Amino acid sequence: MPFTSLGLSPALLKALVDQNFNLPTPIQQTAIPAILNKKDVLGIAKTGSGKTASYVLPILMNLQQTLGAKNRHANVLVLVPTRELAEQVKNVFQSFSQALPEKVKTLAVYGGVSINPQMMAIQGVNVLVATPGRLLELVDSNAVHLSAIETLVLDEADKMLNLGFKEEVNKILALLPAKRQNILLSATLNEDLQHIHQILLHDPVVIKIEDEEESLDLINQIAYIVSDEKKGPFLRYLINHHQMKQVLVFASSVKQAEVIVNKLRKNNIDAKAIHSKKSQGNRTDSLQHFKSGKLRVLVATDLMARGIDVSFLPFVINYELPRSPKDYIHRIGRTGRADTPGDAISLVSQNELHHFEVIQKKMGKKVEIIDSENMP
Ligand code: ADP
Ligand code: MG
Repeated sequence: MPFTSLGLSPALLKALVDQNFNLPTPIQQTAIPAILNKKDVLGIAKTGSGKTASYVLPILMNLQQTLGAKNRHANVLVLVPTRELAEQVKNVFQSFSQALPEKVKTLAVYGGVSINPQMMAIQGVNVLVATPGRLLELVDSNAVHLSAIETLVLDEADKMLNLGFKEEVNKILALLPAKRQNILLSATLNEDLQHIHQILLHDPVVIKIEDEEESLDLINQIAYIVSDEKKGPFLRYLINHHQMKQVLVFASSVKQAEVIVNKLRKNNIDAKAIHSKKSQGNRTDSLQHFKSGKLRVLVATDLMARGIDVSFLPFVINYELPRSPKDYIHRIGRTGRADTPGDAISLVSQNELHHFEVIQKKMGKKVEIIDSENMP
């Protein structure tokens, strides 16, 4: 099914061609018409399968109809878990809305940077992409009113409804008009659907794109048994042996991320850390350098696990396993995106082996495990 049969305007179709979006992905084929029809949508599709455009395109279409009438307040609210994802989603809105006859103003608001410029910029915004904490601050200071929101998107919905965000998100929900369109998306949204229906969705269109056998293999997973003391040298061996030019390494804590970066640097491997203790300016620079290919190794906490799209990222390494099997799925999903294969390598100590079994079971997939002691 081509993009032309989904009900999108000629201007958007042209923008799609310009961005080399030749065919809609499965989630896009189903979600775009449903969202155009103002339905509530619960969309579940694997990492890297184009969920962002599946809501951005129809939302922009629907906005074209309401934009003529003067809007004093934002019509669309997208909630995301991290600042970096807020920027990324804003950029997707902007890249497609450039092509449209009616101007759409999109703004990303998030913490860690000063609030004043965001307050100034918020006037006349149509689409607000936000992390929950900063949005509530802006509400409290009367800089934004959520009474005109017609469409709410929870990207990484399971994360947004999970403990860490639940309270803030509930506060925000209470400020929104009861009659609105709700769109929830994630790669891992399989638990508690009942609950989600009750609080958020009215007669939703539920879209679950099952993995096809071959698409599974877009992410080549492999694990090595490595003792904790040997993980440092083994990481360097992997980077050198595979001549990795761009690799995202996940660590399980801020401290560990710093330790890994320092060791890599001592061994003349260009690396930077990204985590919650870095300044936002530093975070933005590191991610930008990494995305543009200037930085070889980015060592991250789970801050980078959700949603972040680095085009054609070839390698993800788990220096340690994440506690949650869901986080494992999101971490490795930073590679193998948009039909381009990639490698996800996990360094697993003897102590972590049992947990890795649990992860594989939850994921529904077996991963080849090699004992590094038996390697030359
Ligand atoms: P998800 O949110 O499902 O993890 P994204 O929306 O971040 O995935 O999209 C992953 C990548 O695929 C992005 O780089 C995006 O530009 C690209 N992409 C999305 N849809 C298409 C398409 N129809 N054709 C080509 N590339 C696409
Ligand atoms: Mg996404």
